[in-house]
Amino acid sequence: MFPLCRSITGDGIRETLRLVARDVPLEIVETPTGTEVLDWVVPNEWNVRGAWIDGPDGTRVVDFKDSNLHVLNYSAPIDATVSLDELREHVFTHHSDPDLVPYRTSYYVERWGFCMSRRRLDALAPGDYRVVVDSTLEPGAVTYGEAVLHGATDDEVLLTTYACHPSLANDNLSGVALLAEVGRALARQPALRYTYRLLWGPGTIGSICWLANNREVVERVRHGLVVSSVGDPGPLTYKKSRRGNTEIDAAAAHVLRSEPGSRVLDWSPYGGDERQFCSPGFDLPVGAFSRTPADQFPEYHSSADDLDFVRPEHLGGSFEALIDVIDVIESNDTYTNLSPFGEPQLGRRGLYRGLGGGSSEEMALLWVLSLSDGTSSLLEIAERSGLRFADVRLAADRLAAHDLLERTP
Ligand code: ZN
Repeated sequence: MFPLCRSITGDGIRETLRLVARDVPLEIVETPTGTEVLDWVVPNEWNVRGAWIDGPDGTRVVDFKDSNLHVLNYSAPIDATVSLDELREHVFTHHSDPDLVPYRTSYYVERWGFCMSRRRLDALAPGDYRVVVDSTLEPGAVTYGEAVLHGATDDEVLLTTYACHPSLANDNLSGVALLAEVGRALARQPALRYTYRLLWGPGTIGSICWLANNREVVERVRHGLVVSSVGDPGPLTYKKSRRGNTEIDAAAAHVLRSEPGSRVLDWSPYGGDERQFCSPGFDLPVGAFSRTPADQFPEYHSSADDLDFVRPEHLGGSFEALIDVIDVIESNDTYTNLSPFGEPQLGRRGLYRGLGGGSSEEMALLWVLSLSDGTSSLLEIAERSGLRFADVRLAADRLAAHDLLERTP
């Protein structure tokens, strides 16, 4: 997928979705140009076949064929000869590193442009330059793909990522790939509690189209995560939903507690598609799951965010943590202690057998019995006790098997 020239519309994102669909069953949804979606209007579709600059001596300065970052994403078509001074007004360079090519966009202001390294730009001699952007900006559609994996209930978990960036690996092919792998893993599960809806689309306009097209689905979303930038070496980061006290917030915070260096951040209305899902009209329980948040790593939006920057072990760690979060929401429950007057005699039931005093298994039994009054969930018990959710879950299963606990509807 890396070489594809993705944007918020066009054939690059369609081809990316076609590749995702090899791993998960994807329904492709096209929302036509001009459609009013919430407070937005679907823009013209952009496609690009080539782009280059030829210097006064005929040598090629930059070529889209070498890197799709060289063309301003959404650049209007141009075929002209311009002076160096005029060319400079249409060239973007990296703000700090003279050797990097930046990634720049101009979705909603129509203009033509190129991106190149500061070093390359500074070396250009005065003279006439031929500039060509062989692109089209015309009526088409915004394209997104969604996969629905049905569980025991219609209550939904919404997992989304954005697929609108061109050749940039961490931001955000890592999210595109990770969500595909999560989809494959969920599809292998014999029984899911929730119905999972996985969404790949362009940032902002994609989630706005999805929200506009799915007003009745929105009512069924119980938990959600926006997944992005999950392949870099930085520690895991979770940004809470706008509400900040939802079950997905607690589940993610609980899982990240055992990840070295991880961070849990409070809500802020800056970032990715969580801005749309958590806007006050929808106010969905959707948090943001990443390693280093997109604009906080030096390689961000530049040619340095390449396939060497993303490593398998970081993608793997992100995958495992995400699956752990899903495990928590899949198996979180609330119980009532059926023998609440004094402690039940656990030894008589064989529940203390073979365990030393104070083991985490024993502690988990005591915490679950103590806090299971029909209001505290297992996740809340795990948080309050400092025990791992999996240990608390196991203790509840053992107590329920001995009729000491009953699941609270
Ligand atoms: Zn980005």
